Amino acid sequence: MPRAPYIFSALSTVSHSPYQERTVGETVLRLCDDLSQAGVEEARLEAELLVAHVMGKERAHLLAAWGEPMSPAALPLLADLVERRVRREPLSYLVGWREFYGLRFAVRSGVLIPRPETETVVDAALRLAAQRYGDAPVVVDVGCGCGAIAAALATHLPRARVYAMDNARIPVEVSAENFRRHRVEERVTLLEGDLLAPLTEPVDIVVANLPYVRSGDFAAIQPEVLWEPREALDGGPDGLAVILRMLGQLTGKVRTGATVLMECDPRQAELLVREAKRRFPGCTTKVLQDLARLDRVVEVLL
Ligand code: GLN
Repeated sequence: MPRAPYIFSALSTVSHSPYQERTVGETVLRLCDDLSQAGVEEARLEAELLVAHVMGKERAHLLAAWGEPMSPAALPLLADLVERRVRREPLSYLVGWREFYGLRFAVRSGVLIPRPETETVVDAALRLAAQRYGDAPVVVDVGCGCGAIAAALATHLPRARVYAMDNARIPVEVSAENFRRHRVEERVTLLEGDLLAPLTEPVDIVVANLPYVRSGDFAAIQPEVLWEPREALDGGPDGLAVILRMLGQLTGKVRTGATVLMECDPRQAELLVREAKRRFPGCTTKVLQDLARLDRVVEVLL
C-alpha cells in the first residue's frame, strides 16, 4: 500500500514534526519520493520546482540553499500544493506559470498549458515570416489560450502585427496579462469570438493550436490533462472538427499567398492534408515534425 505523503503525517504531528527540522535538500528528496509514488513522471524536477516556489525563489537557487533549514512559514503552502499535485493537478497550475519558447507565461485553471511540441509552430511561423513576408507579416493566433504562440511571435518579430483570439473569457484575460508581461500588448490585438470570426483584416499567416484530441482518447489520457479545459482539447470523434471548421472560415480572412499552420495529432496529419487540398485546390502542403519526430504541424500555402 502506498504510504501517505509525509506532508500529511507531518501535519498530524505538528507538536513534534520531524518535517519542520528538515533542510531544503532533505525536503526536495522526500518530496521527490512522494511525487514519484503518486505516479508523477518528472518527480525530481517537480519537487525542486515546488520547493523553490514556496521559498519564493528560482530553482537555480536551491543548490546554494541545499543545507539550510526549510522555513516553517513555507510549510503550510507546501502541504497544500503537494496534496493537489498528488491528486494530479498539473504543476503549472500550482506554481502559476509555464515556460514556452524561452518565455515564462502565466497560466491557471481554465487555460491550456503550453506544450513543447507547440514550439514547432512558432519555429515554422518565424521561418515563413523571413522567407515569404519580409519579417513583417500580419499574423493571427486562433485559439490563443494563454497567448504563448502570439507572444513568442510578437517578441521575435518586432515588425509584425499580431492578432490573438479565443472564444473563452479566461484565456482572453490570461493572454492580456501575458502580453503585458512580455511588453507586446501594443502590437498584439486581442479579440474574443468564434475562431476567425472576429478578425477585422486579412492576414499573411494563420497559426492554430486548436483542440485535436479525439473524444474517445480521453478515457486513457494522462490524469493531468483532465484538469485542463476540455473545450481546448476535444476535437470531436476524429479530432478534426474544430480545425476543419476554422478552414471553412478562411475565405476573406487571408491575403493572397497566405500560409496556415495547424498543430495536429500525428495520426491526423495525412487526413488534414487531404482535407486542405480538397478545400483549396492548388494549395501547397507540408507536414512538419516536432522534436520527438512526430508529424505535428500541417503547413498549407494557399
Ligand atoms: N498536445 C495536446 C495533448 O495531447 C493536445 C493539444 C490540443 O488539443 N491542441 O495533450
